[in-house]
Amino acid sequence: MSLFDTRTLSRGLAKIFANPQLWLTVFVAVAIFVSFIYIANRFSTIAQDAQDRLVNVRVGSLQDAFAPLSALYIRDPEKLSLYMRDMADRNPTIVEFLAVEKIGDAWIITSALNEAQRGTNLVGYDFVLSLAVAEPEQSFTVEEVLGGKRFFRTARAILSEDKQTLGVLLTRQSLSEADRQIAGNIQTSFFILFGILLLLLFLFFHHARIIDYTELYRRLKEVDQLKDDFVGMVSHELRSPLTIIRGYVAELKEKGVHAENAPELLKRIDDAAQAQNMLIADILDVARIEQGRLEYAIKDFDPASVIQSVAEGLTPAASAKGLAVAVQVPSGVLITADEGRLRQVVTNFVSNAVKYSDKGEITISGKSDGKNFVLRVSDTGIGMSAEDVKKLFGKFYRVPGDRVRKEVGTGLGLWITKQIVEAMKGTVSVESIQGVGSHFIVTLPLAK
Ligand code: ADP
Repeated sequence: MSLFDTRTLSRGLAKIFANPQLWLTVFVAVAIFVSFIYIANRFSTIAQDAQDRLVNVRVGSLQDAFAPLSALYIRDPEKLSLYMRDMADRNPTIVEFLAVEKIGDAWIITSALNEAQRGTNLVGYDFVLSLAVAEPEQSFTVEEVLGGKRFFRTARAILSEDKQTLGVLLTRQSLSEADRQIAGNIQTSFFILFGILLLLLFLFFHHARIIDYTELYRRLKEVDQLKDDFVGMVSHELRSPLTIIRGYVAELKEKGVHAENAPELLKRIDDAAQAQNMLIADILDVARIEQGRLEYAIKDFDPASVIQSVAEGLTPAASAKGLAVAVQVPSGVLITADEGRLRQVVTNFVSNAVKYSDKGEITISGKSDGKNFVLRVSDTGIGMSAEDVKKLFGKFYRVPGDRVRKEVGTGLGLWITKQIVEAMKGTVSVESIQGVGSHFIVTLPLAK
């Protein structure tokens, strides 16, 4: 996988948006990069200007110095050509060095570096030549590009002592060497820029990793806190049924197994042991859900019989408290879910309804809404406040107060239920009024 494929890029962008601390790094990186390009560009332009000006000044002063000599030797082209050769040897950028005189209407080359040019008509210098003739006291330069290479053409009038124009001195200089140096500098600055880019990328990834570690540390702390809460709660909850059991066992030991209330004491011991068993099952479920190890056997089935059997199983406990249980679930509707897990979910809602109601009726109703099977477990129990409803599906949450504490419970049941229902692509919600009752509503997808 390449470093910059689209998935990596979009993940990188998502990470930047999720971590505002990274924005600053990105901003600084981009700012440094852009400033460097700007400065490098400015610098090379300035350097080229300076080089050009230097060459220009040099050729100007060369011609200023050479012009009086040319005036002396203009009638001795052999000698003047020799001086030109000498000058060109010392200035390798000079590729053409000429002296011209006006004969009739034409400008004829009289002295030149290149022997072959002598006696021929001048070509290629029209513009500088006209400037030099018009202003004989100074030299003029124009730039030209030939075959991708830059040249300067310079002209200066050759004046006699009484300021008569005897001819014109012309040079063509190559700027290739200067341009090569500038190009070399630009190349070096691009290497440096590349180095800076690598450094910035390194800094960026380093920063991103530190943010990762910070996030990991935060999550670890959270998990650690959760673990502490969990261990605290579990040891407390595991101890309370044991304390109860030991209390009854002590009483039994004292009164003997044939005491009148022995069956009652044994029942209480059994209840406490069952509560302990339930708690351990809940804890194991939480661990399995958190580790993603809870398995679901999903299939299409009619939930009516499961619901009916849960209701029947809990009716004795409800009747013992004087609560009626009514089931209104039509058969023949198929849902896609895990049957065993649905039993666990319904059991939790109905047993909660029994635990947290002291009078009235528990109604279990089910119907299809065309897309989902909607199951409603309603009671006329203690209900709860809107504040409690908000926290109800949190792990370990139990509504504060003596009435709830009186019942054996872990505060894990509803959390487990919600996880299971959501894993089966369903939803859980609750409507409740304190002192009036609660409705727990579960939806599960109908079979296709
Ligand atoms: P618990 O083991 O305590 O019953 P649950 O997770 O099943 O744990 O429920 C969490 C809390 O929600 C309970 O402690 C209770 O305060 C409240 N609760 C649950 N069901 C009902 C209900 N039907 N009526 C009133 N309160 C309820």
